[in-house]
Amino acid sequence: MSLDLVIHGQLVTPSEVFDGFLGIQDGKIAAISRGELDGPLLVGPLLDVSGQLVFPGGIDVHVHVSSSELHPEGWTRLTQCAAAGGITSVIDMPYDAPQPTVNAELFAAKVQRLRAEALIDAGLYGTIRKRGGVPDIAGMAAAGASAFKFSTYETDPQRFPRIPGDELLPALRKLGRLGLPAVFHAEDGEIIDALIEQLRPRGQESPRLHAQSRPPVSEMVAVAGLLELARAVTAAGFPVKLHIAHLTVPPGFHLLEHYRSLGIDVTAETCIHYLTLNEDDLEQQGAPLKCNPPLRPAAMQEALWAEVLAGRVSCVTTDHAPWPPQLKDKANIFDNKSGMPGLETMLPLLYSEGVVRRGLPLTEFARLTASGPAERFGLAHRKGSLRVGLDADLCILDPAATHTVRAAESYSIAQHSPYQGRTLQGRITHTLLRGQIVYDGQTVTAQPGYAQFLTPEFA
Ligand SMILES: [Zn+2]
Repeated sequence: MSLDLVIHGQLVTPSEVFDGFLGIQDGKIAAISRGELDGPLLVGPLLDVSGQLVFPGGIDVHVHVSSSELHPEGWTRLTQCAAAGGITSVIDMPYDAPQPTVNAELFAAKVQRLRAEALIDAGLYGTIRKRGGVPDIAGMAAAGASAFKFSTYETDPQRFPRIPGDELLPALRKLGRLGLPAVFHAEDGEIIDALIEQLRPRGQESPRLHAQSRPPVSEMVAVAGLLELARAVTAAGFPVKLHIAHLTVPPGFHLLEHYRSLGIDVTAETCIHYLTLNEDDLEQQGAPLKCNPPLRPAAMQEALWAEVLAGRVSCVTTDHAPWPPQLKDKANIFDNKSGMPGLETMLPLLYSEGVVRRGLPLTEFARLTASGPAERFGLAHRKGSLRVGLDADLCILDPAATHTVRAAESYSIAQHSPYQGRTLQGRITHTLLRGQIVYDGQTVTAQPGYAQFLTPEFA
C-alpha cells in the first residue's frame, strides 16, 4: 500500500528522538518506522528532511482573535501567523469586542466564523457575564467549548469583567461536574487599580511604571485565592480542573505544586514573552511591549526558565493579542492597549532560547508546546504527539539554519515584533496540518475554510 506522504527526519516523540520515517494517510499518522532496521520501508512520495527536527504541530491554548471591534486580528490573519510559526491548533479566548462569548447563541455564531475564516484548527473558550451567567455554561459546553475563562481582574466591565467570588463558586462546581478546565487571568484588582491611580499622572516618564503598577504580589494573592476556591469545590465533590493562564511569578509554580500534593487538579502556563523579554525591554521598546501581567525584572525572567527546566510549567502559550500601531503609540504608557503578537515566533524562540541556549530537552519542548496542552484541554485523542492514529500535524524545524525576526514579514496587524532583528538558531521549514503542507518555509499556503472546529474529549 502506498502512503500519501512519507517524511524522513529526526522524529520527536513523547519519549525519544530518533532518525526515522513517518507515514501519512488520509490526514492521519499511519506509520512510524526507524527504517530498514524496523521492518518494511514505508512507501509513498518522500519529503526528505533528514537532519531536521519533526515536532508535533504546536498547540497554543491562549490567543485573542477579536479583542477590538474596529481593529481585530481576525481568524484569517491569526491562523496565518500560527501556520507560519509551526502552530497547528489554537484555542481562542472569549473576550471579543463588542460582545464576549457568554451564551450558546454567541458561541455558535463564533464557530461559524471560525469555520469560514480560519486556516488551522481551533477550539473556543466560553465565559460568563459578571452576574447571573452560570446557567449559560451548560449550553456552551454542549456546543463544544474547550474550557471556560474567567478573570479576577476587571479589564473591561462588559468585555473582560472581574467575576466575583460568590459567582465563581457555583461556576467552578458546574465545571467540576462537566469536567472542563476553568482557566483564570489571575491578578488582584484592588492592588493594581490603586497603583495605577497613583502612577498614571507620571505615565509619560517611563514605560516601566506599567510593570510597577502590577507587582508580583498582585498575581500571587489572586492565584492563592483561586487555589482555595478550587480546594473548597474539590472537597465538596466537584473536582475542578483549575488552570492559571500566563503565570509570571516563579514561586507561583511552587505553590501550585503544593496544592497538587493536596489532590487539587491544577496546572499553569507561562507565556513565551515572559521567558524571552523583561522589564528592561519594556523600558526600551515602550508601549508595544505593554501586556498583562507585565514583563518582569531580568532576574525573575531567568528564575522562570528554572521553573520550565524543572518541569513545573504545564505549557507555554503566546497570549497572542496584537493591536494596530495607532493603539500602541500613546505617550502615557497607561493609555496604550495591552498585548502583543506571538504566534509566529513562539516555537522558534523556545527552540533557540530554551533548547539551544539552556539545554531544554527536545521531548520537553514537545510536551510544553503540544502534548501538555493537548492533554489538559481535551485534544489528546486527536492531537499533540507523533503517534499512529493521531492527526498528522507537524512542525519541521531545521536546527542548522538561523532566522532573523522581521516584523515586515509578519502576517499580523501589529506591524511590530518585540523581537525585531533578533537572530534565532533554528528555522521552521514546513508546517503540516492533517497531512497537508500549510506553510512551506516562505508562505502560508492554506486557505480560509481549511480549519476544523475542535471539541474536547477527556479520557
Ligand atoms: Zn490573554
